[in-house]
Amino acid sequence: MMENSRRSFLKIAGVAAAGLGLKPVTDVFASGGLQKQSSPIGDVSKGKDVLTAKRWAMVIDVKKMAHDGTAHKCIEACHKLHNVPKMTNKRHEIKWIWEEEFHHAFPGKHHEHIAEAIEHAPFLVLCNHCENPPCVRACPTKATFQREDGIVLMDFHRCIGCRFCMAACPYGSRSFNFRDPRPFIEETQENFPTRMKGVVEKCNFCAERLAVGKQPACVEVSGGALVFGDLDDENSDVRKVLKSDYVIRRKPGLGTGPQIYYKV
Ligand code: SF4
Repeated sequence: MMENSRRSFLKIAGVAAAGLGLKPVTDVFASGGLQKQSSPIGDVSKGKDVLTAKRWAMVIDVKKMAHDGTAHKCIEACHKLHNVPKMTNKRHEIKWIWEEEFHHAFPGKHHEHIAEAIEHAPFLVLCNHCENPPCVRACPTKATFQREDGIVLMDFHRCIGCRFCMAACPYGSRSFNFRDPRPFIEETQENFPTRMKGVVEKCNFCAERLAVGKQPACVEVSGGALVFGDLDDENSDVRKVLKSDYVIRRKPGLGTGPQIYYKV
């Protein structure tokens, strides 16, 4: 099983390297600058456009999230696509995106007269793809790294399971595979690597979908509740929301620079 996972990862890395003249994997996933350009990752996205940005960011409209189980749809779409296992033991849970109550997501902002609509709203939380990610600084093997466009990624193959990144992340955005996750994946997707016991994982802003011109899966199924775009482009959908609406971020005082904004 462990070998299968390594083979899956190496297959993807190998295809990518072939398209780039054997650049390292960390470079393969690096992009930025133009809005759209031809795919730099060879056969993986041959003939498709790549979505690129100088700084990817997301806005979550909390009021829209409260409708029709939108939060649940986003979680299901993400976890299915990325082979996230459904562990039976809560202590072994793996989460890329999940629901949190306001007072957990935004400690210090809760008070007894807070609006009911906010207090009981489902707050979707995920990796914030921080501008200054402490997880990246803590990783001794560079298994976690930041692309030029701000996306913080994991190279599962390099992860030694030390969990320094988990200790460094102030948002609990990372999960550790205490067990082999594969028996707990409901329907394995062949085009995304499965992980193994002893590896840390988290949201990747759907880097593999951006590479073939698609928005992140959670954004696609959110019915407009999630907006994704380039923070450095004043005409992007993200910037338009930020210009017109009041938004908050999780624990902004820590200086990590979260790139997930909540319209409340
Ligand atoms: Fe790293 Fe946590 Fe920030 Fe994500 S939210 S970039 S895991 S510190």
